[in-house]
Amino acid sequence: MTPLDLKTDGHVHSCLCHHAVGEMEDYVLAACDKGLERLIFLEHFEIGIRYFETTWLTAADFEVYFTTGRALQRKYRDRVDIGLGVEVGYNPEKVAETIAFLRQYDWDRIGLSYHFLRHEDEHLNLLSRKTENMAKCSSLGVKEILRAYFEGLRQALGQLPATVLCHLDAALRHHPEIMFDNDHKQLMEAILVELAAKDIALEINTSGFDHRQQPYPPPWLIRQAQELGVKLVAGSDAHRPQDVGRYFDRLPMYLLSLESGQPHG
Ligand SMILES: [Zn+2]
Ligand SMILES: [Zn+2]
Repeated sequence: MTPLDLKTDGHVHSCLCHHAVGEMEDYVLAACDKGLERLIFLEHFEIGIRYFETTWLTAADFEVYFTTGRALQRKYRDRVDIGLGVEVGYNPEKVAETIAFLRQYDWDRIGLSYHFLRHEDEHLNLLSRKTENMAKCSSLGVKEILRAYFEGLRQALGQLPATVLCHLDAALRHHPEIMFDNDHKQLMEAILVELAAKDIALEINTSGFDHRQQPYPPPWLIRQAQELGVKLVAGSDAHRPQDVGRYFDRLPMYLLSLESGQPHG
């Protein structure tokens, strides 16, 4: 089995993204309290998204992020190792601009996600629980949206310099009609093969325990990732300091149950 480092939370946010609460330092203190050895911020980057609110960092926010992050690294040097990373939202129309932005900073981790899908002159937020998002997705067809989501992610892996793929199957997680059919599963498998080939890690995102009693992605995918030798990394996707390292204590048993082939969750 690929070993999973449970002393590292590799995916947290802070108030800099405009939809999380708590300063960066509050997350660092939470990591110290939980006995973590490493905490990696993975702040949201999006570009060219037409959406009614900004749920990502602006260029100025990223400057603050690095200044604050570097100071925290020095201050907490003896207690916890702090990584400064980015969760890059894929926008197929802005690949060159995205790469140009990524080159501006020295990232400890580049997480890839795909939150916003273009529909006509606006973008749909696939990770949102807002009713207007849900209703639009219903009218467009959940199956088709999920297909476009997985196809987009796969394409993104060939275009962006990601080091980790975030919450693979979290799209439309709040949607009542969510269902993965064989087409979707095949696309997910193709993504895993790509991860193995490119040495990109797969995130075990423990926010799933809150939404569906198991992490993202589901057990069969984690098992398959292990068989392919894809590296696994754990992330809480905390948007509140108290969620740092959430449910990490459940992961050893969870992974063990996958190994022995017992269904779980
Ligand atoms: Zn977020
Ligand atoms: Zn995130």
